[in-house]
Amino acid sequence: MSKRDYYEVLEVSKSASADEIKKAYRKMAIKFHPDKNPGDKGAEEKFKEAAEAYEVLSDDNKKARYDQYGHAGVGGAGGFGGGGFGGGMNMEDIFSQFGDIFGGGGFGGFGGGGGGRQQVKGSNLRIRIKLNLEEMVNGTQKTLKVKKMKMAEGATSKTCPTCNGSGVQMKVMNTMFGQMQTQTTCGTCQGIGKVADKIPAGANAQGLIKDEEEITINIPAGARDGIQLNVRGKGNDAPFGGIPGDLLVIVEEEVDTTIKREGDNLHQELYISFAEAALGTKKEIPTVGGKVKITVDAGTQSGKILRLAGKGLPSIDSYGKGDMFIHINVWTPQRLTKEQKDFFEKQMSSGEMVAEPSGKEKTFFDKVKDLFN
Ligand SMILES: [Zn+2]
Repeated sequence: MSKRDYYEVLEVSKSASADEIKKAYRKMAIKFHPDKNPGDKGAEEKFKEAAEAYEVLSDDNKKARYDQYGHAGVGGAGGFGGGGFGGGMNMEDIFSQFGDIFGGGGFGGFGGGGGGRQQVKGSNLRIRIKLNLEEMVNGTQKTLKVKKMKMAEGATSKTCPTCNGSGVQMKVMNTMFGQMQTQTTCGTCQGIGKVADKIPAGANAQGLIKDEEEITINIPAGARDGIQLNVRGKGNDAPFGGIPGDLLVIVEEEVDTTIKREGDNLHQELYISFAEAALGTKKEIPTVGGKVKITVDAGTQSGKILRLAGKGLPSIDSYGKGDMFIHINVWTPQRLTKEQKDFFEKQMSSGEMVAEPSGKEKTFFDKVKDLFN
């Protein structure tokens, strides 16, 4: 396999300066980076080829030999003091040089750690909150006691002795290009720059202690079962000057035994007495928008369904609203006084009070059909 000329590989002239060579390599490395060309063997070969060319041309000594003798002057395939070129440069070796090329980890996925002290965040807390339909539709405010990790009273910190508060450690690495300094997050303080000094009893090594806090949560109108609200900064404290995590509130719909939902529509049963059915009455019906007065006509049959248009739930995907359906049940008296019994017996024997369906009454199935029209 004939090797391409290193200057040709980096697309620079033989008179290119060290800076131009560096820039040219940087361009090639970005262009053929494996992250940008997943699974592309051709790009990977070009990536390695450029790294190899740069390895030689960035070194004055090797460059001079290469200029004079070509590939033979720098050892040819498998050369460079057993560095394993030719058979393919090790990707990790290539990445390890990038600290220099890309100025300390600007390139995603590699390059020696972050820079500077990090803002450490406490962990997030998750709680579930049960809401009834009315609260979900209209929004509400809930005050809860939440168990969380808080900075213990009396806990003090001191400057991290490992990094002197900078949050980073400088490491000198031996690479093919010689010694290189890279920055990594301080292993002692995890980048905070501070470590615990005095820890009160009961607190953990980071000065945090189990505690409880009363937190008021505003639930916006239109909440749905399973949605998650993010209350910023109400999660666990971070150690020593970091910012607290978030409180994640998961909304659960409380199963309502009186109101059933079916999509945006709501259903509820209404029980009326025999007398109310016969004479007609007015009733107050709870809805998610507050109480609504309805009229039950005289002579209402058991099983009648009243529809309150727009008294259901706001629709998720339109501006519309569902309806509320009132299912009327006539309650047959189970205990009768002497007078009542006499009255009904008289009605029965006289044949005055009898069922007289006209044939136009809606059957159960008709009513179900109506609901979907
Ligand atoms: Zn440190």
